[in-house]
Amino acid sequence: MLVDKHTGETLSRVEKPVYEVIEPAVQKMLSSEQYHRGLLNTLENVDSDVYRLVTQEYDRQQNTLQLIAAENQCSRAVLAALGSVVQNKTTEGFVGSRFHGGCEVVDCLEMLAISRAKEAFGAKYANVQPHSGTSANQIVLTAILDKGDRILSLAMDQGGHVSHGAPVALAGRIYEIESYRVRPDSFLLDYEDIRERALRFRPKLIICGTTAYSRIIDFARFRAIADEVGAYLMADVSHISGLISAGVHPSPVDCAHFTTTSTYKPGGPRGGLILMGRDFDQPFQVGNKTIPLWERIEKTTFPGFQGTPYLNNIAAKAVFFKEMLSTEYKDRQVKIVENAKVLAEEFVRRGYDILTGGTENHLLLANVANFHRGLTGLTAQKSLEDCGIIVNMNRLPYDPQNARITSGMRIGTPIVTRNGMRAPEMRIIAQLVDRVLMRVEIVSDREYRLDPAFREEIREQIHSLCSRFPMQ
Ligand SMILES: *Cc1c(COP(=O)(O)O)cnc(C)c1O
Repeated sequence: MLVDKHTGETLSRVEKPVYEVIEPAVQKMLSSEQYHRGLLNTLENVDSDVYRLVTQEYDRQQNTLQLIAAENQCSRAVLAALGSVVQNKTTEGFVGSRFHGGCEVVDCLEMLAISRAKEAFGAKYANVQPHSGTSANQIVLTAILDKGDRILSLAMDQGGHVSHGAPVALAGRIYEIESYRVRPDSFLLDYEDIRERALRFRPKLIICGTTAYSRIIDFARFRAIADEVGAYLMADVSHISGLISAGVHPSPVDCAHFTTTSTYKPGGPRGGLILMGRDFDQPFQVGNKTIPLWERIEKTTFPGFQGTPYLNNIAAKAVFFKEMLSTEYKDRQVKIVENAKVLAEEFVRRGYDILTGGTENHLLLANVANFHRGLTGLTAQKSLEDCGIIVNMNRLPYDPQNARITSGMRIGTPIVTRNGMRAPEMRIIAQLVDRVLMRVEIVSDREYRLDPAFREEIREQIHSLCSRFPMQ
């Protein structure tokens, strides 16, 4: 018999606790392998419209030539991690200070991603949570700057990124921006001019790193300028982080206070990464408290700037950072640059105006207006696209054309190299691009005509070329 502890009354309602017995499953439980296998078949059964479009995009990527310098092609292992049940997990904060239960597995994934990122870049600190390259930049800016503080960065029309302070973007509206430029004669960064501007403008942050620069960036020189004026230095190496991890381009990790990158450009899942080198634990003043710089970055990531991390994305980043450490990846970075050099030489030989005369990284910029009177970046991009060659128009420094037309074309070699193309194929590509641009009839800055039979002929050749180099 049970008695109420407080009143002494006899309780007859419940004499014996009854627990529900959980019956074993009637429906067979799937192992993780069975659950994830055949994901695309499931999609086909559930939503044939999206399935068809996904399939079409695969065919497009396989059968046309991918030469956009900002694109890359991740591995199937990365895709598998992205499309896994890890996507279902929600948490906030960082390992060791999470706000939800059930994090034991995702904690391991995030720690793995962090340790591999640190190894791949020789960094002392890595933050794998930024949702994108833009978020990574915005987190750093939010962490160290106050409203109205000054940033010195490369102008957007010179190859700077919108997130570096373009008036249309958030940073451009919150901070005071001064731009530096490349030299009008050589299109190279002018470090003496950058130094003079820094001395005059006294920025709190200097940003280096670009979307369209084919030469080596001297990060040590940038750091010397930053130190001279007492500024922080952020190196946004989105385009060249793969080359940096492989030692094909000098590393900014110990020169800059912060190194940021998108993770899809070097060939991983979409997302961002913040790295820190020797300054990672520099003291940072918050009110009357002093915390290390890396902690300031974490507290700004969450709750300062983002919400929950994309944990499936972090799993995929972990896979990618392991790939980065492989010999195959490192060798490929060397080949990417070799291929870009061959491509640039071929274009120069054919009379194209290649900015700076060539390249030392994965991309080249061509002034198409100087090659063929009346041609614009827009008509070059469109006519090449008609023939299965995918490039992007790009505004050039001091470009007389506006951003939607441009005089430039940007070409990159990460994807064609990934699929195994080498120097002989680069020569074929230059020849096919040249044939199209020689043949296109200019109607206006935006319009052109291309003979349909010629277009089909080039498309078929591109198709055959690509079929010899299947997507890896
Ligand atoms: C691509 C790029 C970014 C933006 O990365 P997202 O992940 O697309 O936001 C930022 N900075 C530079 C220099 C870039 O090239």
